[in-house]
Amino acid sequence: MAVRTIRLFGDPVLRTPAAPVDTYDKELRLLVRDLTDTMKDAPGAGLAAPQIGVSLRVFTWWVDDEIGHLINPILSLSEETQEGDEGCLSLPDLSFDTVRSQQVVARGMNMYGEPVEIEGSDLLARALQHETDHLDGVLFIDRLTPELRKEAMRTIRESEWFGEAAPEVRISPHTLSAKWL
Ligand code: ZN
Repeated sequence: MAVRTIRLFGDPVLRTPAAPVDTYDKELRLLVRDLTDTMKDAPGAGLAAPQIGVSLRVFTWWVDDEIGHLINPILSLSEETQEGDEGCLSLPDLSFDTVRSQQVVARGMNMYGEPVEIEGSDLLARALQHETDHLDGVLFIDRLTPELRKEAMRTIRESEWFGEAAPEVRISPHTLSAKWL
């Protein structure tokens, strides 16, 4: 079990586009394991490698008791959208109604370098979009209406954890873990 520190908003790694994976080795499998352990410990419904300080295109999810991972994802999004509360493990105690596509088909690789395809709707679709955004340096607050984004930024500035040099914030237990990504 290797639980890593989750990087918080303000850490530049969260704003850096992550590099594609080109080597499917033991190190990559250890990264997937660490992501999975850290996600389960948080707990969260998803976690992307930049959130533990690794700028590679890898993420994990944990939705409806199913745990998975995806590498170098490419998403196809439905026109149909969903609304719902969304939060991020890198932005503790903050959640806002965020519009996302209702269905997603995600193509990429597993940790052995085999092509995989994941189809998801509802929370899984939301998680796949949220985590892929992380790989592009995009955070869910960027997807909010200007008004809600302003409110989010105000809440962030007032948060105890914001600007901490070495964040030691523990964000569990969540009352509702499902929305934390
Ligand atoms: Zn997140």
